[in-house]
Amino acid sequence: MEHRYTYADRAEFFRPSPVRSVWDVSMQPGMISFAGGNPDLSILPLDELGKAAQRIITERGTDALQYGAGAGLPSLRTKFTELMESGGVHDIDADDVMVTPGSQMGINLTTTLLCNPHDVILAEGPTYVGAIGSFLGHEADIRHVMCDDDGLVPEALIEAIQKARADGKRIAFLYTIPNFSNPTGIRLSVERRQQIVEICRTEGVQIVEDDPYGILSFDGTMLPSMRSMDDSVIYLGSVSKIFSPGLRIGWTVAPPEFHQRMLLASEASALMAGVLSQELTYEYLEHMDWRTHVQSGISRYKARAEALVAGLEETMPEGVTWTTPKGGFFTWLTLPEGTDSDEVLAKAIEKKVVFISGPGFFADGQGKRNLRLSYSRVSEDDIREGTSRLAEVLS
Ligand code: PMP
Repeated sequence: MEHRYTYADRAEFFRPSPVRSVWDVSMQPGMISFAGGNPDLSILPLDELGKAAQRIITERGTDALQYGAGAGLPSLRTKFTELMESGGVHDIDADDVMVTPGSQMGINLTTTLLCNPHDVILAEGPTYVGAIGSFLGHEADIRHVMCDDDGLVPEALIEAIQKARADGKRIAFLYTIPNFSNPTGIRLSVERRQQIVEICRTEGVQIVEDDPYGILSFDGTMLPSMRSMDDSVIYLGSVSKIFSPGLRIGWTVAPPEFHQRMLLASEASALMAGVLSQELTYEYLEHMDWRTHVQSGISRYKARAEALVAGLEETMPEGVTWTTPKGGFFTWLTLPEGTDSDEVLAKAIEKKVVFISGPGFFADGQGKRNLRLSYSRVSEDDIREGTSRLAEVLS
């Protein structure tokens, strides 16, 4: 007889990631994929990394393959404070840094600690699918806040806070991706950052700042993080886009009290980030010329973003608009009234081009006229060909 599982209520709330669901399609021969948000790892010094991995295992394998401290390797925690220093966040205490198995875990732990079922989480509309997945799994009431070309709109944030309160709701936090957002590629202006920090301070709304793309700025400018404007902001970092997503290393910065709680929650779920991954990440950031490698990644991403925007300008029919990224991996298209991006996706796949359609980036069914194109791993030739295939479908 078939076994029947008795699921917890929350099991109902998880939904398939739209990125994973086109994964197999992306791999089909001849397919041009604008789907995944993967970094281009051909920039990595693989020989050097191989030697480092070997050295770590042969010289200190009994530690590197062992359990480690819950908050992560002290040397790596310090390294992350230096990384943030170069991005304008000064005076971070390494004690406030916790290494996590990817920033996805940072999102999840923060949600576990701050969000009761049915609490409101405010987030940009659209926002990162993985965050939506985590929030839904915690039975959150996700409310999207409108964005424009400068990012989250402060007036819309105030309205959303007031509406949630008028509905008798507790607001768990504002989740925001200020730098080169996934999925829009938009960077929040400095003025807006200040305004939003001020609004949240006045209204007593916690900010969770998710920043995996900040370093990937095409012109090298880095805007001050919200954490640099207010110590109470919970900051989430990641090496996934500047080094390796497969190693699963991210970090959180939070005041001591929250940090301690996070540590307990983390130990109850993953125990800690893999020690070997931490060791290798430390080697990369301490002993290799990682900034040069990242810079060569940025040059490629910039060239691909420019090729994509040029391709869109040349081929897209009237009424299609898009964001022009200044960093990161993504652009966000808005299709003419009455278009359904899921239908466009089905037809596009027949023409051998794939992307992620808009609704996956919203919790409430918006995004039917939108789609996300990722250019991070597509050659410029494929970008030209891919945009013209997409244009054929749209025409
Ligand atoms: N936040 C955002 C905005 C992302 O785009 C991603 C990865 N796509 C993550 C978090 C998760 O990154 P990590 O690999 O560090 O878990």
